[in-house]
Amino acid sequence: MVEFQHVTIPEGDLVRIEDGRPVVGDRPIIGNLRGDGIGLDITPVMREVVGAAVRKAYEGRREIVWCPIYAGLEGLHRYGEVLPQEAVEAIRHLKIAIKGPFTTPIGEETHVCLYCAHQQYHAGTCDKCGKDDGVAPRFRSINVGLRQRLDLFACVRPIMYFEGVPAPNKYADQVNFMIFRENTEDVYAGHDFERGSDVALEIIRVVKEMTGREIREDSGIGVKPISETGTKRLVRMACRWAIDHDLPSVTLVHKGNIMKFTEGSFAKWGYEVATEEFGDRFVTEKVLWEELDGKMPEGKILVKDRIADSIFQQIQTRSGEYSVFALPNLDGDYLSDAAIALVGGLGLGPGANIGEEVALFEATHGTAPKYTGMDKVNPGSLILSARMMLNHMGWTEAADLILQGMRRAIREGHVTYDLARLMRAEGREDVRELSCSGFGQAIIERM
Ligand code: NAD
Repeated sequence: MVEFQHVTIPEGDLVRIEDGRPVVGDRPIIGNLRGDGIGLDITPVMREVVGAAVRKAYEGRREIVWCPIYAGLEGLHRYGEVLPQEAVEAIRHLKIAIKGPFTTPIGEETHVCLYCAHQQYHAGTCDKCGKDDGVAPRFRSINVGLRQRLDLFACVRPIMYFEGVPAPNKYADQVNFMIFRENTEDVYAGHDFERGSDVALEIIRVVKEMTGREIREDSGIGVKPISETGTKRLVRMACRWAIDHDLPSVTLVHKGNIMKFTEGSFAKWGYEVATEEFGDRFVTEKVLWEELDGKMPEGKILVKDRIADSIFQQIQTRSGEYSVFALPNLDGDYLSDAAIALVGGLGLGPGANIGEEVALFEATHGTAPKYTGMDKVNPGSLILSARMMLNHMGWTEAADLILQGMRRAIREGHVTYDLARLMRAEGREDVRELSCSGFGQAIIERM
């Protein structure tokens, strides 16, 4: 029995991992990090919606046992730090967790308030909200910290259209993407060196010495590592997803035409995974056109690659031709946000960070502090992330009920203020503006 200081592991079934997949009992213990700001509002609504879906789907035979884990403001209050090691260990122990948003300092100030995200140059009382127990010294992003410490190498973002949501794209109703973005490498790995620093100058010197190529002395230098290991584990996850969900294609996105040995290798290693590790489930476009006359054989999945800039056009003009994407970190960051915009963007996009064993589901928006405690914001992102989590657990019936409930509520115009505003702007007169918890109830009533 693992002992923690503040986390109490409740009675229930620990999730196990076998052959890379979660094995879940009827009463699985799932970690829950409330998050800062509006985490307070959306977390209980998510739990209520999930509880209702599970009860309806399994009539009492199954139940989620929630285990609160503390980080952010809750971490500060219990441990005196925002990302306690115990939170990391508890998630690792439970294997599956879901989290709200966390405050992240962005400016140069030395302190940040975890209630209202105000940044200032002193500890003690917050100059903006006046609270005296929420100001923490500047820290690195909790989200990034969790990803790194748990090696959650895939950032997974489903992008789907909801009928009734005003979307700028003509083909929005054809959008149904699953984006797998590599989370640990590329120019985001943090090897970023200031101009004039020892490391930057040394790299400039070595490049000149070994290749004869000049880099300006006054350059900042970033290093862009993309490894075979990092690429293959990511693409493997995307391929498994396509197989498990009977999807038609996996698209590898890259700028290999320019960056041959990083992004180009990403595509090459990606193809190797699809064609060598999954028996004959995958067919490349080359084989499709040169050997199969353009006819996809029954039960096979097409693996293709696209140059990153062209995919931004293709998702808009040929949305229906894409399904699962696998991308390096930077391309993935851009594509996830662009794709969400196709279907109307805003508060609804769910997400997860997934590693070999641990999966952490999350709301993708921030803490929206001005709405904290007002029961006002849209809990859709966290609820759809919980739906992803239920799918990950194999509880697809409950997951489907949540999606159905949300689709109906939105179609009927029973939505929170953010969507209500957009729908009214489009001329809809039957919109009913609901609170955060009211939207949760509307979903439950429509399951
Ligand atoms: P934000 O996402 O909190 O807010 C941006 C805008 O979107 C605001 O107008 C807000 O009112 C609105 N909004 C956000 N979520 C909403 C929801 N669920 N329903 C309706 N409207 C919603 O971004 P911000 O204001 O730039 O950041 C606030 C804090 O959150 C900062 O500390 C930031 O670093 C942090 N942040 C955390 C995460 C995360 O934990 N994943 C992501 C982004 C920002």
